[in-house]
Amino acid sequence: MTKHEDGATLNGVALSELLAGVFALSDRRLWLCKNTPNCPKCGEHWQMQLVDWAATPAYWKCRKCKHKFRFEPANSVLTGAAKDTTGNGTA
Ligand SMILES: [Zn+2]
Repeated sequence: MTKHEDGATLNGVALSELLAGVFALSDRRLWLCKNTPNCPKCGEHWQMQLVDWAATPAYWKCRKCKHKFRFEPANSVLTGAAKDTTGNGTA
């Protein structure tokens, strides 16, 4: 049962929305890669693998000691849905 509306859809999600999400995720991935943490277990930096960047905090794996951990760098670039917009600031 496919319903044809304004634009193409995939599983009920507009393709334009889907693409925006994909681009936001790829931006996030790039940003996370630039902010790669050191392994909390063995201190390795260059063999860190980003396993899941859609998750918050991001999920990492150390190729050296196989340690897996969650780490979210400060000033995180979150995908739109996960953004915290509570207006309890100083404005
Ligand atoms: Zn390690």
